[in-house]
Amino acid sequence: MANIIVVGSINMDLVVRAPHIPIPGETVLGSGFGTFPGGKGANQAVAAARQAARVTFIGRVGDDAFGRQLVVGLQSEKIDTQHIGVDETAASGVALITLDAAGQNSIVVASGANHQLTPEHIRKAESAFINADLLLLQLETQLETVMAAALQAKAHGVKVVLNPAPAQRLPEELLPLLDMLIPNESETTLLTGLPVETLAEGEIAAQKLLTLGIGCVVITLGARGALLVSADKPAIHIPSFPVNVVDTTSAGDSFVGAFSVALADGSSLEVALQRGCAAGALAATRLGAQPSIPTKFEIDQLLLNAQKEQRT
Ligand code: ADP
Repeated sequence: MANIIVVGSINMDLVVRAPHIPIPGETVLGSGFGTFPGGKGANQAVAAARQAARVTFIGRVGDDAFGRQLVVGLQSEKIDTQHIGVDETAASGVALITLDAAGQNSIVVASGANHQLTPEHIRKAESAFINADLLLLQLETQLETVMAAALQAKAHGVKVVLNPAPAQRLPEELLPLLDMLIPNESETTLLTGLPVETLAEGEIAAQKLLTLGIGCVVITLGARGALLVSADKPAIHIPSFPVNVVDTTSAGDSFVGAFSVALADGSSLEVALQRGCAAGALAATRLGAQPSIPTKFEIDQLLLNAQKEQRT
């Protein structure tokens, strides 16, 4: 069984529907308020746990009702939460999301306790790294914490995978520590200054990232699937699975979780990419973030059906 560590964010998403997104100073009467567990770290941990991996989360919540609810939610996915600290001063991370009638949104994230996760907390959780296969990172915690986690993983021979979201410039020293970088199209463009309109452009952008010392780059291309580029093998492109798209929220997180578990399990890169693409496609068929993240069984079924169709 793959043994995955996730160091990242845990948020409560507070979602309200409104006829339009208010301008500064305006009050709008909204409807349909709901709270949903989120945060890229937590979403990817759930995505990995639903692939039947052993997942340990290292993170931080506030000493509040959201924090307790979020930790219980992760436990219900069988995620090991012993390294999730409770911050005495900062509130749990929240995302305030307004959705308008046209499906547009505006989002304010208050990182709260997520930003209080320090390199010292990573050191205290060192025991989790001892038998781990892979560390999964995003950019919703402080960069120095991301860096400390990557260094600790390397010291224990644990593979390091970074999903560089939300997009931001990366410190040069971090890049050689990464076995795998998984950006989407806009993150790739921000990191390289290059367009990703075509597969050929994607390959050039990925090559640029490889020259900075990253082991392997996987660009997720939305409805165009995913492209893997490494130094020593020809690029691999996997087209997306045709599905009825309802809401692509968490397609990326589902991809990253499923791909990482397959990688940690020792699957080939092709198989890992296929499982990632199947996960993203399934997530796109359902509304919401964590509820739409698929299980291992669902991905197995989609891949089996796709194989059958190919044969007929
Ligand atoms: P993000 O959500 O981070 O922007 P992407 O949009 O690239 O990430 O989606 C991640 C993966 O999910 C893609 O590589 C693809 O395999 C799958 N996916 C995304 N959108 C679709 C879609 N419309 N149809 C089928 N698969 C999709």
